[in-house]
Amino acid sequence: REASRLRDERLEAVGQLAASIAHEFRNPLTTVMGFVQLFRSQFDELAPGAYEAIWGELERMKDVTDSLMVLARPEAFKPIPCDLAEMARAAIGACEPLALERGVPVDLGPLPPAQVLGHPGQLRQMMVHLLRNAIEAAAETRGRVVLWVTSTEAEAIVHIQDTGPGIPDSVLEHLGEPLYHTKEKGTGLGLMVVHRIVQQHGGQIHIRRTEAPIGTAVEVRLPISRR
Ligand code: ADP
Repeated sequence: REASRLRDERLEAVGQLAASIAHEFRNPLTTVMGFVQLFRSQFDELAPGAYEAIWGELERMKDVTDSLMVLARPEAFKPIPCDLAEMARAAIGACEPLALERGVPVDLGPLPPAQVLGHPGQLRQMMVHLLRNAIEAAAETRGRVVLWVTSTEAEAIVHIQDTGPGIPDSVLEHLGEPLYHTKEKGTGLGLMVVHRIVQQHGGQIHIRRTEAPIGTAVEVRLPISRR
């Protein structure tokens, strides 16, 4: 308990710093991207492939800044009633290009309406990060991903499972530490942002390895809103 309180406090401090840096980066980055796009044909004339390479890296930077912006200061967190199922659909839509590119089928299980009190953009982003990890894992084993929503009296629960290689215990115990990752091109930002969002919404996240079939199961539990 003490360890998890410490982890939460550290996450909050790191998150605030990261969010303010991301904020400073956003406008300049938008300007640079605008100009690069404007001069696309000149780039292509000067050096074939340069535009693609530059644009790819700029998109990666934008991805990182967008993720970090979500860690915004707690006082900026103004939750409203929103439907988890609806945001799950939006998250799946956002991940469709990645799923297609990696050849991973993403199945939709039941998505009954489940009202929670939260920040719609953050909740969507949380599911996008989890789906991305699931798709990237499933791509390694030609596996698949499934997402569904359930609810109880008190909680709305989003389930995301993949039949990827699963997470070894040695990795599992570090998940949730800021910036921990194992991928060559990874950042460890995904789960850090996910943990922060779940924490900010008063929810809980459980990540475990599944055995039959082998893979990973993620459950995010959020308090139901009666409003
Ligand atoms: P990144 O995806 O940039 O590496 P994340 O914070 O999203 O960072 O994930 C941290 C690490 O957790 C990953 O590098 C990977 O080792 C592990 N991981 C997360 N989700 C899964 C999953 N569904 N299957 C297997 N490993 C996973």
